[in-house]
Amino acid sequence: MDWNRNKGKCSVCRTPVRDGMPVRSADDDGTEHRFNRLCRRCLEAEKVFARRVSFYVDGNKEEFINEGEAVPRPTPLKLPQAA
Ligand SMILES: [Zn+2]
Repeated sequence: MDWNRNKGKCSVCRTPVRDGMPVRSADDDGTEHRFNRLCRRCLEAEKVFARRVSFYVDGNKEEFINEGEAVPRPTPLKLPQAA
């Protein structure tokens, strides 16, 4: 994984971010998503679309559980460098 190349830009919307963080999420159907770096806006979006979202704050792992109804993703997720 090339961390340096993505440094400073959100993995989803490509907005330059200073406080972006690596994020992992899982949908209701078990699909997992990994993001090198998400801006706060996209992180909040993941909390709506996914069932579970894991991220790091100040080096501590945090996990968000979506207790409500997961919202279908509006567009197919672009996987970075799909192999
Ligand atoms: Zn973003």
